[in-house]
Amino acid sequence: MSQKYVGAHVSASGGVFNAPLNAKAIGAKAFALFTKNQRQWSAKPLDEETIALFKKNLEESGIEPEHVLPHDSYLINLGHPEEEKRRKSLDAFIDEVKRCEQLGLDKLNFHPGSHLKKIDEEACLDLIAESMNIALDETEGVTLVIENTAGQGSNLGYRFEHLAYLIERTADRSRVGVCLDTCHTFTAGYDLRSKEAYEETMEEFDRIVGFEYLKGMHLNDSKPKLGSRVDRHHSLGCGEIGWDAFGFIMNDPRMDDIPLILETIDDSIWAQEIRALYDLVDKT
Ligand SMILES: [Zn+2]
Ligand SMILES: [Zn+2]
Repeated sequence: MSQKYVGAHVSASGGVFNAPLNAKAIGAKAFALFTKNQRQWSAKPLDEETIALFKKNLEESGIEPEHVLPHDSYLINLGHPEEEKRRKSLDAFIDEVKRCEQLGLDKLNFHPGSHLKKIDEEACLDLIAESMNIALDETEGVTLVIENTAGQGSNLGYRFEHLAYLIERTADRSRVGVCLDTCHTFTAGYDLRSKEAYEETMEEFDRIVGFEYLKGMHLNDSKPKLGSRVDRHHSLGCGEIGWDAFGFIMNDPRMDDIPLILETIDDSIWAQEIRALYDLVDKT
């Protein structure tokens, strides 16, 4: 019996309650969603009816709340060098954490932030940690899941050391975790293509961050090459990473019981990709 929970970042168009239905339709055992329009700052609050319908549909999908990995808005930058703009991001972020709480979900996945070439990396990481601590203080029950990045532009989180730095500065470590995106990991310079490279990368992750903090993964192949620091996803097996890496993940007990989410570019083959991933599980 596989302990892997694979799904995709499904549409919540028409209402968050549609996300569990969309996940079920592609045979997912996990999913990610935006709990509001990810390209707008403000959103109307979730009403009781919407919350109740989301919970009903989630229960009927058979997917456990801990296998849902909500993603925050792309506009948010918790490390923004300008105080006023950072505060705007932080307010929007706190609102997103509260929306997860209301939906009965225990995680929120976010990209750490960008220094916009105005401050150095360490100063930016300090601002992100400060923002995270304020968000933790003002909410409860939701773990902040930091995603590693490709390191495109001035985005931080492309070194495992960045993730560790943020965790070390979090006051409540029971509510902080990380999400490894395979495309971002690879384009940030960590190889996953051979068994040796995969093990070396995962050992480095364990040494610097620690698997106890791994709360989810994004499974994406990559259009750009190893170490290119460019974030362009591809369908599994069609990019520079190739199928072997996904086989290593599907047979690695360190990835049991956490949401494994596709953000691949062709949503019409997600059902196929999910089946293909489960077929990689060694049955012997
Ligand atoms: Zn991702
Ligand atoms: Zn990406």
